[in-house]
Amino acid sequence: MVKPRMQPKNPEEKREKVNKYQNNSKQNGQPQQRVQISQMTTNRGEAMRAGRRNFETADKAVDRWNVFEKHHEHAVSSVLPVANNRLRVTFLGGLEGIGEKNMMVLEYGDDAIIVDAGFDLSVDLPGVNYAIPATTYLETIKHKIRAYAITHGHMDHIAALPYVYEQYPAPIFCASHFCSEMVEKQFMSINEERGTDLQPERIVLNMDDHERYVLTPNFTIEFLRITHSIPDCSTLVIDTPIGRVVNTGDFRLDPEPLDHHPSDVTRL
Ligand SMILES: [Zn+2]
Repeated sequence: MVKPRMQPKNPEEKREKVNKYQNNSKQNGQPQQRVQISQMTTNRGEAMRAGRRNFETADKAVDRWNVFEKHHEHAVSSVLPVANNRLRVTFLGGLEGIGEKNMMVLEYGDDAIIVDAGFDLSVDLPGVNYAIPATTYLETIKHKIRAYAITHGHMDHIAALPYVYEQYPAPIFCASHFCSEMVEKQFMSINEERGTDLQPERIVLNMDDHERYVLTPNFTIEFLRITHSIPDCSTLVIDTPIGRVVNTGDFRLDPEPLDHHPSDVTRL
């Protein structure tokens, strides 16, 4: 059953309500006068309380971050060595959302490879624009790090490279010159900002020719073309003694990309 629309009992009553509302913007029928800033009275106590609230909010945000870091360090102190003939895959970021400091570490025997090293773009702390993956774990395996392999040139995959590379230098593999140049640009930017002179070895593998590179007897890598939202993105294939690991990288499958380079579905 359709209910009849509510009508004011008395049309005059409705008109009165409208007039009452209109009168709110006027005082005695006169337009309300603007208050000059010089005439405003500042409540000093209220301003101080507001300032204190801002600091408390900032402190809480920082504390939340510290809790994560403490937890992380505790977890690292109890890391067991990798057993023989086992592949260990460790994620130092990238599993909780878009723009979240992508970094994956693969270890087998005495070798380790790092896949991507990006900024966390979602950090919301006063005076902090981004964060990098916690490298405490890398410290425990630094003697094994043989290479970085980068899936594509987005900042959440490459931007932390200069900071991580500075502590743990190794060659950087990319699937395209575009990605390699993005990496170079990031190093130049950080060198300029921090007065460093980091010049990593950058190696581009031809993903369209399915170029494979034997990093060590434990790791052989190959990039495959995949479409995403910037040019020349790749999926990384890593062959290990116990099997093949595929890190898809970011992708957005597009059969007709603007650059006319579709995903290498056949190879996949
Ligand atoms: Zn991306």
